[in-house]
Amino acid sequence: MNWSVGAPRLSAVWLDTPPPGSLACRAFQVEEIMAVPKRRHSNSRTGRRRSHDALTPKQLQSCPRCSTAKPSHVVCPNCGYYMGRVIVETEAKTS
Ligand SMILES: [Zn+2]
Repeated sequence: MNWSVGAPRLSAVWLDTPPPGSLACRAFQVEEIMAVPKRRHSNSRTGRRRSHDALTPKQLQSCPRCSTAKPSHVVCPNCGYYMGRVIVETEAKTS
């Protein structure tokens, strides 16, 4: 987005005491609170940005011991085995 080039969005805050030397009984300070886009984007530009947003599903393998689908290089959540060893004690292993 082309931020901060458009008209600034302003906010006014009341001061507890007016600045020294002023005759006013109350004073406020104006400050810029946020940048605003100068122009809207076309639908084509939004679509081009979102063309890289798609997610791919996690690749799963079957556990060699219990053949449960699990992510590769991860301890099996069902039997707790990894590389032929017990890594985590699970209820499926004890029963
Ligand atoms: Zn397993």
